[in-house]
Amino acid sequence: MTERLYYRDSTLKQFTAAVLEQKPIQDKHGVLLDRTAFYPTSGGQMHDTGTLNGHTVHDVILEDELIWHLVSAPLQTDRVNGELNWSRRFDFMQQHTGFHLLAGAFKRVLGIETIASHLGEEWDTIDIDSDELSAEQLQAVETAANEVIWQNRDVRIRMVTRDEMAAFNVRKVSDLGDPIRLIDIEDWDLDPCGGTHVTQTGEVGLVKIYGREKVRGSLRYTFVAGRRALAKHQQQFAVLQELGSLLSTGQDQLTASVHKLQQENRDLRKQQEQGRQSRLDQAIADCLLEIEQEGRVSEFFPDFDLKTLQGLAGTLLKQSECTCYLFGDQVFVFASNRESVHPALAVLKSLTVVKGGGRDDFVQGRVETDIEMPEILGAFAEKM
Ligand SMILES: [Zn+2]
Repeated sequence: MTERLYYRDSTLKQFTAAVLEQKPIQDKHGVLLDRTAFYPTSGGQMHDTGTLNGHTVHDVILEDELIWHLVSAPLQTDRVNGELNWSRRFDFMQQHTGFHLLAGAFKRVLGIETIASHLGEEWDTIDIDSDELSAEQLQAVETAANEVIWQNRDVRIRMVTRDEMAAFNVRKVSDLGDPIRLIDIEDWDLDPCGGTHVTQTGEVGLVKIYGREKVRGSLRYTFVAGRRALAKHQQQFAVLQELGSLLSTGQDQLTASVHKLQQENRDLRKQQEQGRQSRLDQAIADCLLEIEQEGRVSEFFPDFDLKTLQGLAGTLLKQSECTCYLFGDQVFVFASNRESVHPALAVLKSLTVVKGGGRDDFVQGRVETDIEMPEILGAFAEKM
């Protein structure tokens, strides 16, 4: 069993220890020490990094109560000086204490139990035993947790026996050995926990809840604490500033500006649709007139796409006995309710590069050439 120095003192940054054993683990080299300040990945918290005699510790894993430090090559020594990457460790201490503060707040403010947690390298999550919370309830929890930060309360480590634990009002009963390590945030949260925490709540700085998702009947909230919370705030402030500059408005007017833009966009789309509909109505009228005179129609509509041409052909066939040769923006539809349009397709293919085909009475496709459509149309009309 490795003595866990962080159990009694999570602020230890350097230590000396004896090397007990070394062995290959995964593609690295595992080092077992008699004692360590390195935290192994466990209990929802990620491992520390740092150095052993200057060799980088890439990972720290827990195996049957033994803590293995993964380095790149075997150490040629019996004793080591260990040094933690303090910035990473302190960040996790802020996240972990932030978790306890939120768990205490969910319980005290709303009477809701916490089910699980995960502290990641970017985001942390807390799962609570509830399937619905209002924005106001969540804000009350967040505010309560931050008030405890500003009150700079003590965060104590208590080692108690299983029997003694019965006298404590712990948030969650644990099966973590005997004695049991309790993390006691003064008059706020008391929980069996093997992780690393700050010693005063003020060191957490800030805890902020972000996203929410439903997970099997419970709610999972994403949160960050400490330096990460400040970094997220700085990122988001930069985004707001950029949006404000793009929309030429102050941050308090951003929502109103976006609503205005959305409305303008809806109006424009409506106008565009009305314009398209009136061009289509005009096209139908022109084509029907030509059909009345010629029995067939050959027309070019420069801004019509394939879908519009298909609709136009369908309308014309419904309203008359005719053959239509319709051209649009590099697309065409030939349709008839009285003869095959394949001869016309053959003519078009003889004039230019065409991709398309279809039934005997309905063909459609794309004209794949740099030649201008009116020129193709002129030649087509001459041959038909
Ligand atoms: Zn903890």
